[in-house]
Amino acid sequence: MCCPYLDECSMFRTLAIEQDMKHLVWAFCCGEHADCGRYKKIVAGEQFPAGLMPTGEIMLTDSADRPAG
Ligand code: SF4
Repeated sequence: MCCPYLDECSMFRTLAIEQDMKHLVWAFCCGEHADCGRYKKIVAGEQFPAGLMPTGEIMLTDSADRPAG
């Protein structure tokens, strides 16, 4: 069963996902979506960075996502 947020998930609009990462994304989205870092944040009603990956890592997408300093 695929993630219920698949059609609206901003990750696909926000991140230019490299070809070799697509399998990782789909492993979560149509596999273990309950383990996805984004899914957990959405369900908890928590804010999260645009670059948050399913693995919980944060991809730096622009200056707004980069740590200060
Ligand atoms: S990245 Fe996570 S929240 Fe987004 S569709 Fe995939 S499993 Fe769902």
